[in-house]
Parts: sequence; C-alpha cells; structure tokens
Amino acid sequence: MKVSKAGAVAAVTVLVLTASGCGEDAADLPTISIGIKFDQPGLGLREAGGRFTGFDVDVARYVAKELGYSEDRIRFKQVFSSDRELMLQYNEVKFVVASYSINEKRKARVDFAGPYFVAHQDLLVRSTETGITKAEDLNSKNLCSVTGSTSAENIRTKLAPKAYITEVGGYSECVTALKESVLDAMTTDNAILAGYAAQDINQGKFKLAGLSLSNEKYGIGLKKGDTELQTKINAALRKMVQDGSWEKSVKANFGAVNFKHEPAPAITEGS
Ligand code: GLU
Repeated sequence: MKVSKAGAVAAVTVLVLTASGCGEDAADLPTISIGIKFDQPGLGLREAGGRFTGFDVDVARYVAKELGYSEDRIRFKQVFSSDRELMLQYNEVKFVVASYSINEKRKARVDFAGPYFVAHQDLLVRSTETGITKAEDLNSKNLCSVTGSTSAENIRTKLAPKAYITEVGGYSECVTALKESVLDAMTTDNAILAGYAAQDINQGKFKLAGLSLSNEKYGIGLKKGDTELQTKINAALRKMVQDGSWEKSVKANFGAVNFKHEPAPAITEGS
C-alpha cells in the first residue's frame, strides 16, 4: 500500500492524540486552578475518596462556572493560611476561596472580590472546659492557631498578648493537639471551629466558647490589579446570592452544625 506523506502525518497525529487521551472535545479546553483549604470540614475539605466539599468549594465552583469553567475543568490546589498571597503572586492559582479574611495588610499584596461571608473569631475547647469564658481568660492558657492567620495575629496583638500560642500549618493539627489535651483551646473563625466540632469522630468532645472576638469578612483573593476578574467574580457572587444558591450551600454545609451564620454581606471590594 502506498501512503502519501500528508496521510502518514495525519495518521501519526491521530495516534498521538489517542495515546495521550486527548479526544476532540477534551483537548485544548482550558482549566482553571483555584486555591482552597483541604482540611476544613464545612468549608474546604478533600475527603478520603478525593471529593472536595464545603461552602468555599461550592462558592469556587459557582464562580468558576460563571467564568465559563465546568466542574471537570477545575483544578483545586491546596493553600495554607501562610501562603495564600504567594500562591496568587506567583500565578499558582487564579483565585483563592479559603476562609480568607479581607484586610489592609493583605490588600497591599493581593486584591479581593466580595466579601461573600462573615465569620467571627471564637475558641474551641474540650467539652469539659469551664475556665474560658472571655478573651482575657486566655492570657494564662496554651492556645493553638495557624501561622499567617488573622486569628493568631489578633491573639498576639490585641486579644490576649500574654497567652502562650503554638502556631501550626493547618487547623486540623490544632484539633489533634486539643483532643490529646496538649493545649487548652484553639482559636480561629467560628465557621471553621463549628465544622470540626460537628465531625463524627469529634462528637461530644468539643464546644465553642461562643465569643465573637472579631469580624472576619471572607473575600476571594486574586492577583493584584486584575480588576476585570474582580468585577466578574463580584457579579458571580451577587448572582449566587440572588438565585438562592448561596443560602442553599450555607444550609447544606453549616445546617447540621450548631452554627448560626450571618446573612450574605454587601459586596464592597472594587467598588
Ligand atoms: N479568616 C482568618 C484568616 O483569613 C482565619 C482562617 C484562616 O486562617 O484561613 O486568616
């Protein structure tokens, strides 16, 4: 059989495309990398089977869809409280949805869309604890929080400067230490703490102190100066609230948890 040169090239191309798993429609369509937490039940969690769940994950998926990315085109990347700005500055992710409080210090390095949620700093203690009822009680206690979080900074600079605070990489490490009685309390946003308290493996072990120690407005972090993306994400967030998806996700993720959430906040970033 005589095969023309052009025919041979076409055949090889088909072979290569098939071998690399690139079907016609799967090829060339862009993906989007989104930074989320992997260890915060109710907000951003990578479950044992690899499924991603939580309110932040729902928000990320909704926004991605509005930007034109179906679920199979999303690449979730793990971010830690201490590396969110860097992940954005180095283009590791397009945006970050990770219990990320908007504040001036962070806004020097990144921009935010939103806010899309309001949480308050609180404490998680063992259910037998009776000695912590207000922020000042913490001054003689061993606390745990996460490096790069507003929670740790608020304790050090404002709430209880004399407290001994251990800073770790992720909040789940604090939960383990608290369970093993190495520490007296862990501190971060109530939405995060409620998620841990409600986990099956933690049933009956912990309680929230119920203090509202700060206002934490969650924003979607994005690269500084990308006002076009900021405008698009703000529009997506408004739509998520208007069409009821926001409320539905909040109920699904925090409903079973003994946690009363704030209503959706007005969007103020970029306007
Ligand atoms: N919302 C706080 C922050 O952005 C605490 C939660 C977290 O570390 O992700 O620092």
